[in-house]
Amino acid sequence: MRQSRLLLNTLREAPADAEVISHRLMLRAGYIRQLAAGIYTYLPLGRRVLRKAEQIVREEMDRAGALEMLMPVLQPAELWKESGRYSVYGPELMRLNDRHDREFALGPTHEEVITSVVKGEINSYRKLPVTLYQIQTKFRDERRPRFGLLRGREFLMKDAYSFDTDWEGLDESYRKMYQAYNRILTRCEINFRAVEADAGAIGGEGGTHEFMALADIGEDTIAACTLCEYAANLEQAESKAVRMESTERSPEEKPVKFHTPDIRTISQLVQFLGVRPSDIMKTIVYAADKTAVAVVVRGDREVNEIKVQNFLRAQDLSIADAAAVEKAVGAPVGFAGPFGLNIPVLLDEEVLGMANGIAGANEADYHYRNLNPSRDLTNYEIGDFRQAAEGDGCPRCAEGVLKLSRGIEVGHVFKLGTKYSDKLGASFLDAAGKSGSIIMGCYGIGVSRILSAVIEQNHDANGIIWPFALAPYQVHLIPVSVKDDAQMRMANDMYRHLQEKGIEVLMDDRDERPGVKFKDSDLIGIPLRVVIGKDAVQGRVEFAERKSGLKEIITVEAACERIFKRARLAKPAD
Ligand code: ATP
Ligand code: MG
Repeated sequence: MRQSRLLLNTLREAPADAEVISHRLMLRAGYIRQLAAGIYTYLPLGRRVLRKAEQIVREEMDRAGALEMLMPVLQPAELWKESGRYSVYGPELMRLNDRHDREFALGPTHEEVITSVVKGEINSYRKLPVTLYQIQTKFRDERRPRFGLLRGREFLMKDAYSFDTDWEGLDESYRKMYQAYNRILTRCEINFRAVEADAGAIGGEGGTHEFMALADIGEDTIAACTLCEYAANLEQAESKAVRMESTERSPEEKPVKFHTPDIRTISQLVQFLGVRPSDIMKTIVYAADKTAVAVVVRGDREVNEIKVQNFLRAQDLSIADAAAVEKAVGAPVGFAGPFGLNIPVLLDEEVLGMANGIAGANEADYHYRNLNPSRDLTNYEIGDFRQAAEGDGCPRCAEGVLKLSRGIEVGHVFKLGTKYSDKLGASFLDAAGKSGSIIMGCYGIGVSRILSAVIEQNHDANGIIWPFALAPYQVHLIPVSVKDDAQMRMANDMYRHLQEKGIEVLMDDRDERPGVKFKDSDLIGIPLRVVIGKDAVQGRVEFAERKSGLKEIITVEAACERIFKRARLAKPAD
């Protein structure tokens, strides 16, 4: 491509509302333009990168044996009513009416449509298993569309759905998709972790993993072991339970009630008594589907509400208000404790190991000391109800500790089970002629979001640094002066030669100052650059790598060889 013919406008400044670097750079380098909040045009350069990401996804889906199809964006509301999601999905679902006033939705995801398709096409175990996928524009009326392509209202997703006759089959289909996702993100050169995620809300019956690109601007926090493979969403992360040594040493004594006038919080108790937060049992009263429940964690810990909610299988969980606390424990907020309580008590496993701890006495202005949960408490359920924290011991290996980092969710694999096949009636007959519900999995990857994640991880002060596999062009060929015959002859020869060998070349044939050309080139981020300047007469060029910053004066032939070699390396391994 000759740059003089390319629709490309680079900007010195990004619009002020572009907050994150990937968004700023994509605007400045002329990849995308915003039409409305969360809705973008891909300019020619952006379209090329999007296609590359799409193609990597397609190749790996095909390699995993999935079949590509294309489903409608426009979906009748009846289908969503059948699955029960028309109301549940809420305002994120874009809704519209046709001229006959029939209700439709713009697909945010396709479980309903694919299940109804499969219901019509598959009735026997002979046609299973099968995994189907599409790469398509999705619509979600996000509450806060932001960060450019990271959270759009219209975005490109690959969604795949697997159909099996039994759970072992689903495990195998899931494993294949999991592997495919690893390959996709590796080919995109994304630094990622596959993390165990929470299945609660979507209501699946099996496992689920999120694929997280590590980046400071990520909206999710993940806990990963420094030594082993363990990684989980913080919502879900486990940690080794630690038995803390108590600062108080009087194990024979019974719990003693003592006066703590208006001392309600952990930090007030710490000050008042001169103890450590870990000597105190933090007791929080929740309303779980309107029933009061007390959750107890060590005072230096936070309650993980998702773990509590999953344990209780509650639809709804919220901290009880002051009146509800008073009713449940018989004391104002700040004086609840597990000892002598008449509501269900959930003890975090670390609390059971506490010795001579301090807790509220369920009486205004009083606490207990010398509380030994394993000796003094009788009615409780024990579990992991705490939030994992940086530096906690890894739950899986002996030596590792957890490190917290931020991540961008780029992909999600999920064992659905029979949720949709039951609702929509997708069943099959087995070899014995018995009918069963098809067992499903669903697998999403944010194709457009990948672009942002890649830039978040690959840029410098001057611009984008594309991985070879995603770059809009592989080589940026820059004749320094288009008025110089020798330079232009060499540039045109090289341009033709590289293209004949299948290399994607952008040639900057604009009559611009060299400084302008180099600045634009850095901003656009093409991985290899060949500058043709004064040395052209000696048959030499400057060969440069955007990522390493390497610059060398070499012969044209040597430069071409380097380029071919790089292109060969980029071919995916089997
Ligand atoms: P998030 O928690 O970020 O909203 P999600 O859990 O709603 O994501 P899924 O429904 O699992 O996402 O969708 C599959 C994939 O589609 C996600 O992993 C993500 O990469 C991508 N995706 C989801 N929402 C958006 C969006 N608004 N803009 C761009 N990509 C998105
Ligand atoms: Mg979402």
